[in-house]
Amino acid sequence: MARDADVVVVGGGVIGLAAAAALARAGREVLLLERNGGFGQETSSRNSGVIHAGLYYPSGSLKAHLCVAGREALYARCERMRIPHRRTGKLVVATTPSEVEVLERLLELGTANGAPGLEILDAAALRAREPALQALAALWSPATGIVDPDALCSSFAAEAEAHGAVLLLRSEVIAIEAGDAGFRVEVADPDRTRVRVDCAAVVNAAGLAADRVAACAGLDPDALGYRIHPCKGDYFALAPSAPLRLSTLVYPVPSGAGLGIHATLDLGGRIRFGPDAEYVERADYGVDAAKAGHFAEAAGRYLPGLRPEWLTPDQAGVRPKLAGPGEPFRDFVVAEESAAGLPGFVSCVGIESPGLTAAPAIAERVLELLC
Ligand SMILES: Cc1cc2nc3c(=O)[nH]c(=O)nc-3n(C[C@H](O)[C@H](O)[C@H](O)COP(=O)(O)OP(=O)(O)OC[C@H]3O[C@@H](n4cnc5c(N)ncnc54)[C@H](O)[C@@H]3O)c2cc1C
Repeated sequence: MARDADVVVVGGGVIGLAAAAALARAGREVLLLERNGGFGQETSSRNSGVIHAGLYYPSGSLKAHLCVAGREALYARCERMRIPHRRTGKLVVATTPSEVEVLERLLELGTANGAPGLEILDAAALRAREPALQALAALWSPATGIVDPDALCSSFAAEAEAHGAVLLLRSEVIAIEAGDAGFRVEVADPDRTRVRVDCAAVVNAAGLAADRVAACAGLDPDALGYRIHPCKGDYFALAPSAPLRLSTLVYPVPSGAGLGIHATLDLGGRIRFGPDAEYVERADYGVDAAKAGHFAEAAGRYLPGLRPEWLTPDQAGVRPKLAGPGEPFRDFVVAEESAAGLPGFVSCVGIESPGLTAAPAIAERVLELLC
């Protein structure tokens, strides 16, 4: 098989771009294929933009390990490359006695995972820090922050290209055939013109389509547990005229499929509420204005007086979840597929939150798997 590239990366979200940058930096010849007209237009630009400290994930999980490793690498990268970001810190607030017990458990779990400086604040200390909040207690995480996700994606794209990677837009991978010496990848452009690329290795970083890309390479997504269950999250923005100010991120105690409707800041200081969590058949990014009442009620548990008329529909994102409705925790999959009969094929599947934070560490893991 004549080779057109050493490694083909499928998907130009933050994971594919970070992997392409790490591989190219290590001297690999990389071709990245993205089906959309721009990079990072799906989940990688439709999220809270939070650099997570690593509070929530079971100790020993890839999510815990890659979040903590990714967080440190991400802050260092942001400082080195002047990517807009801020160490805002974050409060997880408890509004009932049973939630206060959850905070104690999060303190232990987060500390074990490597989230530094965690501290429980009582109601008075919380009020002194954030007068708008009403809660019995809160967990303070000083290592949490925010980043501009688009700037982060662009930084990985620029780094990959600077090290010789070729990044192609409007290039959808429609088939992957394994041969004796690697893979033949079939690519279609918007006119459905087809091109074949031969390569030694493939990285599946196709986000919401990672199960379909796995299947088109001959892997069985159901047998491997790679079936994606899309789970939508809507956001509402707070009107700048609303009489409400926050200086940090505020999360409720986590419940259900997401982390709960939280209040985040963007780098311009704008407050957004979200995301909620709703399993859907396929990605759709419309936000139903009628949900404003529900959002005001959910966030009003810790921000009393929040009014629905202060909220306007903002963006939506869709989590590529491996756990279906009511199912237990599922970890990230970052795996080389020799055991499934595809040596040289690396799967990045189920990269939901904290995937943005973990991206630099996931990229290093991909590189290790292909060495
Ligand atoms: C609502 C929400 C909030 C979140 N908040 C945070 C947060 O605050 N902090 C955090 O750390 N993480 C957060 N996340 C998670 C984070 O956004 C994701 O983990 C991360 O963006 C995943 O990146 P990705 O590259 O895997 O996927 P994507 O960004 O979806 O990229 C996959 C790319 O693959 C392309 N593709 C698919 N199929 C093909 C094909 N056949 N051929 C070519 N290209 C293809 C797609 O077009 C897409 O561009 C959040 C996620 C959601 C949904």
